[in-house]
Amino acid sequence: MALNQSIYHSPVFQQACNQFDAAADILGMDAGLRERTKRPRRCVVVSMPVRMDDGRIEIFEGYRVQHNLSTGPAKGGIRFHHEVTLGEVAALAMWMSWKCSLAGLPYGGGKGGVIVDPRKLSKTELERLSRRYMQEILPFIGPNVDIPAPDVGTDAQVMAWMMDTYSNHKGFYDPGVITGKPISLGGSLGRKEATGEGVAWFVKAYLQDFGIKPEQTKVVIQGFGNVGSEAALALYDWGAEVIGISDYTGGIHNPKGIDLKAALDYVQKNKNLQGFPGGDALTNEQLMELPCTVLIPAALERVITEKNAAKLQCRILAEGANGPTTYEADQIIRQRGDIHIIPDVLCNSGGVIVSYFEWLQNLQNYYWTKGEVFDKLYRMLAKAKASVDETAKKYKCSHRTAALVLGIARVSEAKAQRGLFP
Ligand code: NAD
Repeated sequence: MALNQSIYHSPVFQQACNQFDAAADILGMDAGLRERTKRPRRCVVVSMPVRMDDGRIEIFEGYRVQHNLSTGPAKGGIRFHHEVTLGEVAALAMWMSWKCSLAGLPYGGGKGGVIVDPRKLSKTELERLSRRYMQEILPFIGPNVDIPAPDVGTDAQVMAWMMDTYSNHKGFYDPGVITGKPISLGGSLGRKEATGEGVAWFVKAYLQDFGIKPEQTKVVIQGFGNVGSEAALALYDWGAEVIGISDYTGGIHNPKGIDLKAALDYVQKNKNLQGFPGGDALTNEQLMELPCTVLIPAALERVITEKNAAKLQCRILAEGANGPTTYEADQIIRQRGDIHIIPDVLCNSGGVIVSYFEWLQNLQNYYWTKGEVFDKLYRMLAKAKASVDETAKKYKCSHRTAALVLGIARVSEAKAQRGLFP
C-alpha cells in the first residue's frame, strides 16, 4: 500500500519515512524488508469519558502506537497535547525504534498521545484522564510488552497515577510498567535530568571536537520544559552562556546571559515565561535565528523548515526535541555545510537510556546511586557518538543518516532473522 494511503499519512510521518529511506538506501535494503521495517506494527485508538469538576462528562481521544516489537518490548513516552495526531505519534514511535536500537537497548519502539491541552485541566481532571488512558491501553502494555514514559505535557506525577492504575488492576505493585516515575515509586535518580544532561553531553563533546571553549559558547534553546531547562542548566554549569530561551508563549533574549534560576522560579510561579523580566521579549521564530554557537530546539517537531534553514546562525544544531528539522531543511543545512546537526535519535537518547536503567532497577529491586547512573549513561553516550561519527565517515553521509543506518540495521536484521510474524 502506498504511503499516502496509510492511516499514518501526515507531513511528520512522511518526514520519518524519508529519513528512513535515505538510510535504507545505504543499507541496500530490499523492498519487502524495507516496508516491513518501516511500518508501525500496531496501534490502539482509545476514547476516554472523563468526569470534569463541574459534573460534565467529556470524551477525550488518544493513541498508543507500537512501531517495533521485534527487538524487545516497545518503549516510548506519552504526549498530552491538543494537536497530537496519529501520524505524529507513529513518527515518534518510529524514531524510538531507531533510538533504542542505536543505543543498544533491548527494546522496540512505541509512543502514546492524548488529544488534550493539560494546562486547561484541573489536577483532579488530569488525574482522572491519566488513569483512564492507562486503563484503556492496559491490555496492550506491561513490563515485557510496552513500557511508556513521560513526554511533552506529562510528568512524574502522571506516571505515578498510571503506574498505580496498572498495579491496582494487576493486584500487585509493578513499577516496571512505566518509567519517569517519582523516586519514591521506583523512579531512578537522574531520570528527570537525563535527557537534557545527555543533550548537553553531546554538545560539549562536539564543541570539544571543534576546539570551541565553554567561554566562547552562546546557547539558544527553544522550549524551556524538562529537556530544554535541564540542558540549559548543564551547559551553564560547564561555563557556557545561555542567551535565549522560549516556551509556547514566546521567547526571551539577553545577550549578557539569562539568569536560569530566576527563569525557572518564574515559570514555577507563573506557569510560563510570558512577562519574564530577565531579557527582551521576542517570538519563537526570531529566537531560532539569533546568532549563537549552539541552537537547541527542545519543544515540538518541524520548527526548522525550508523557510528558516538558510537563516540559522549557529555552529551546532542539537536536536533535543524529536523531529525538529524537516527533511527539506535537512538538505538545505547539508548544502550550507557550516552547521553540525546532532540528530535527535542520538542527541536526546539520554532520556531513554536512563529509563532503561530505571526499568532494570525495578525488575531487580536493586537501586543505584546517581553517580552510578550518570557514569553508565556517559559511557553509553560516548559509545553511540563514536559509532555514529565512524559511520558518517565510512558512508560519507550526514550524522542523521549515519545514526539511522546503525539504528535501522539492527531492527531490520532482527526482522529478517525472525521471519514474517514479529
Ligand atoms: P515539556 O512539556 O516538559 O516541555 C516542552 C516545552 O516546549 C515547554 O516549555 C513548552 O511551553 C514548549 N513549547 C510547546 N509548544 C511550543 C511552541 N509551539 N513553541 C515553542 N515552545 C513550545 O516536554 P519535554 O519532555 O521537555 O519534551 C520536549 C521535546 O523533547 C519533545 O520533542 C520530546 O519528544 C523530546 N524528548 C523528551 C524526552 C523526555 O525525557 N522528556 C526524551 C527524549 C525526547
